[in-house]
Amino acid sequence: MHANIDASAMRRMNRATVLKLIRDLRTTSRIDISQMTGLNKATVSNIVDELISEQLVVEVGYGSSSGGRKPILLRFNANAAYAIGVDVQISHMTTVVCNIRGEPVYRQVRQTSLASPGDPRDSLLDFISEEISKAVAAAPSSPYGLVGACIALPGMVNFHRGLVYYLPSVFAGEWDIRSQLAQRVSIPLFFDNDANCGAWNEYMGQAMRLKNLVFVNMGVGIGAGVVIDGRLYRGRDGIAGEFGHMTVNPMGSACMCGSYGCWEEYASERGLLRYLREAGADVSTLSVGESLLEQAITQAQNDNRAFIRAFHALGQQLGMGVANILNVLNPEEVILGGNVVKAATFVLPEVERAIKHRALLTNKQVPVRMGNVHAVAVGASSLVMHEILFASAELVAP
Ligand SMILES: [Zn+2]
Repeated sequence: MHANIDASAMRRMNRATVLKLIRDLRTTSRIDISQMTGLNKATVSNIVDELISEQLVVEVGYGSSSGGRKPILLRFNANAAYAIGVDVQISHMTTVVCNIRGEPVYRQVRQTSLASPGDPRDSLLDFISEEISKAVAAAPSSPYGLVGACIALPGMVNFHRGLVYYLPSVFAGEWDIRSQLAQRVSIPLFFDNDANCGAWNEYMGQAMRLKNLVFVNMGVGIGAGVVIDGRLYRGRDGIAGEFGHMTVNPMGSACMCGSYGCWEEYASERGLLRYLREAGADVSTLSVGESLLEQAITQAQNDNRAFIRAFHALGQQLGMGVANILNVLNPEEVILGGNVVKAATFVLPEVERAIKHRALLTNKQVPVRMGNVHAVAVGASSLVMHEILFASAELVAP
């Protein structure tokens, strides 16, 4: 009995390893795969034939040979399957459908309002299931169709158990969101923190060249996703990376988490609103959410000094926290994502200045750049692909 389980687990791992290799190389051949993986030729041939019959791999002609038979070239079929990624923010929701390489074929942004009467969790489930239904209808046909959806949430999420522990303005406790959404949606579902999805997007988007990186997602709050040695670092319960709740001022203002002086109070849209007030800007028509950044950017572009000063203060606070992260993790790159991306011109120079002052040694030279505004949604779909098609490959000991 045990021998059977081991053999089938081994076969799954070998299959994922071969598929991953074909995905990551432009073209390859059975003999190359055998040499690179150490798997014998018969095993590789069996797996490749299976992948071809499943339309995950296609043969694309012959390669060159230094003698003997020319090898048949293999290429990954990126359009064999699609996955949905949903980036849920408190004020809006972005939904994408991407192929296996993370190339979007559908993108939809909608405003959301969770303030309706009743339990905000019900409105959230309504919004998510509506957006998933639209994405399902929009997905192109493919051999595997839609393999699943990952919902990225701006809170504390247990990826493995599909639980939400904390979602600002919506819920605190232990919410089995996966079971509840599964009653409305019939594809495999995954849930993760938004910054984790953003970090995964950066890792995959750069062809896994950078094994250690941090994605800092700034919107209404701030959080980070951490990739260490090519894996998302989620910690014991999935709530790692909550840099937004590092205490940066023990005498600081009260945070939604119940503590005081959290980084999130200073380096987020909430912080920006406070700096605007302090700078004497008229904030009577402004509130935290999707349009705050846009309205503030317009004012700053019109040379409204109070708004420019507020953005500088935000950049200094962002930079201070990023310098702390650099000093702790010494990553290869830090990517800033979320709404702050739109304010790069005003914020990034101050971030860089703070890092020059506060980061240690070579941490000063670690590139810090702005990411793509859709990074989280695309990363969420890539996580689905990874879990369904490739995660078994990671079980193989190096
Ligand atoms: Zn906090």
